[in-house]
Amino acid sequence: MSDNMTFPGDKIASIEEYEAGYNTFDDGDMVRAATIGEKIIDKNSRIANIKHPKNLSVPKPGDIIIGTVAAVMSSMIAVTIDYINDKPNSSKIECVCGTRNIRRKNIALVNDIAKLKIVSHINGTIHANMDDSNLGILFTKCRKCGGKVVPMRDAIKCTECSWIDERKLSSDFGKSDFVQVRE
Ligand SMILES: [Zn+2]
Repeated sequence: MSDNMTFPGDKIASIEEYEAGYNTFDDGDMVRAATIGEKIIDKNSRIANIKHPKNLSVPKPGDIIIGTVAAVMSSMIAVTIDYINDKPNSSKIECVCGTRNIRRKNIALVNDIAKLKIVSHINGTIHANMDDSNLGILFTKCRKCGGKVVPMRDAIKCTECSWIDERKLSSDFGKSDFVQVRE
C-alpha cells in the first residue's frame, strides 16, 4: 500500500511549513486530510493537497479489487468495491462475480471481504472472477454464531462453536494486514 494514502483527519503537514490545499483543512496547528486520498505535497508552492481517488473509481479489466460482499445469489455474488489495486475507493461501485463454476457449498457470506480480479464490463455491469488461488475470501465469520473461523484444508472451522463450513478462500486468507493501511 502507498505511504501517501490518507484518511480523513490524518496529519499531512505542519501549518508552519505548508498551507492547506485541496481536500485538506487546517486545525490551527496541522494541515489535515479532509478525505481519503493520496497525499501530494507541493514543495515549491508550499501547499499540501489530497488527491481524491475519484478518477480511480471504475476498475479496468485486469485490476485486482478488494470489497465487501453485498449479496449472495445462486450463481453469483455482488461485491461493493473498497480498494482497486490497493488504493482506497469511496465510490461504492459494485461488481458481480460468477460462482457457478466453483464447487463449494458456500462461496461467501454477506459482509465477507473478497479479493477479485476484474474481467470485463458488459452492459454497464462490472464482472469479476476469483479463479486464481490468491483470489477469493479474505475475511469471513461463522455462519452459525458469527465467531472467528480458521482454515482447515479446503474448509473453515469456527473457533467458538466448531461449525465446519466452506468458502472459496484466497491464499491470503487469515493475513489480517490487507486492511492495515493506516500508519
Ligand atoms: Zn460458530
